[in-house]
Amino acid sequence: MAYTIDLTGKTAVITGSNSGIGLGIARMLAQAGADIVLNSFTDDEADHALAAEIADATGVTARYIKADMSKGPECRKLIEEAGACDILINNAGIQHVAPIPEFPVEKWDAIIAINLSSAFHTTAAALPMMRRAGWGRVINISSAHGLTASPYKAAYIAAKHGIVGLTKTTALETAEEPITANAICPGYVLTPLVESQIPDTMKEYDMDRESVIRDVMLKRQPSKDFATVEQLGGTATFLCSAAADQITGTTVSVDGGWTAL
Ligand code: NAD
Repeated sequence: MAYTIDLTGKTAVITGSNSGIGLGIARMLAQAGADIVLNSFTDDEADHALAAEIADATGVTARYIKADMSKGPECRKLIEEAGACDILINNAGIQHVAPIPEFPVEKWDAIIAINLSSAFHTTAAALPMMRRAGWGRVINISSAHGLTASPYKAAYIAAKHGIVGLTKTTALETAEEPITANAICPGYVLTPLVESQIPDTMKEYDMDRESVIRDVMLKRQPSKDFATVEQLGGTATFLCSAAADQITGTTVSVDGGWTAL
């Protein structure tokens, strides 16, 4: 068997993909030939322009569908509106940093809804489509924080550990079918989500930007380098290849050695 990666004819739905890792994964899957459904909770011209740009660059069909991943029915509707979902990338995510006693309840609820429950809803809606199509890939974007913890990120870490559990269950429920489910666990990737954490961390540690990046953020990332959205797109594309047919129910770390410590 030739292990080329040709995703022509497959449709990939990527939640939270108008920026950062989701957009990077969408671009790489499009390069491999997959039709793309981008998503976020906004409905701006810029969102639709991203889809047009991907279609122009690669020749695939690319659409943008607005759906709020904090709301279960909208998660399910996204998959229904996509019409096909051979590759499901559960990527939408937010962060909030605070000690547990002060952690705002509404932030806890929002993080659990967007970072964890959305993947349950999209997976529930997508699996019947994958079964009808006779092939499927569920790729959940967890985190190094799905395997380890840090203080002040209770909701994020609970959700990211939870999504690893959901991944394993999805894999077992589909184990005898040509469907796989895996989680990618990135270390720090310089995206808007991480960028937005820098000012607070600078204040918290009374440090300049460079010191925060090197000594706080990348403290636990032995490579001392951020992972890139292209590397994550490449990892997701590999998980969609025939070489990955027997890779299911596991985590793939892209963390510069973080979880080896
Ligand atoms: P980002 O802020 O660039 O992207 C987050 C995406 O989620 C955006 O497209 C945003 O619009 C979308 N989103 C947020 N709330 C939504 C909602 N209610 N409905 C629909 N979409 C919504 O951040 P990112 O760094 O690209 O993060 C993407 C994923 O990768 C997240 O799940 C994050 O936890 C995970 N991750 C990121 C890093 C990192 O270092 N950047 C590390 C590990 C894991």
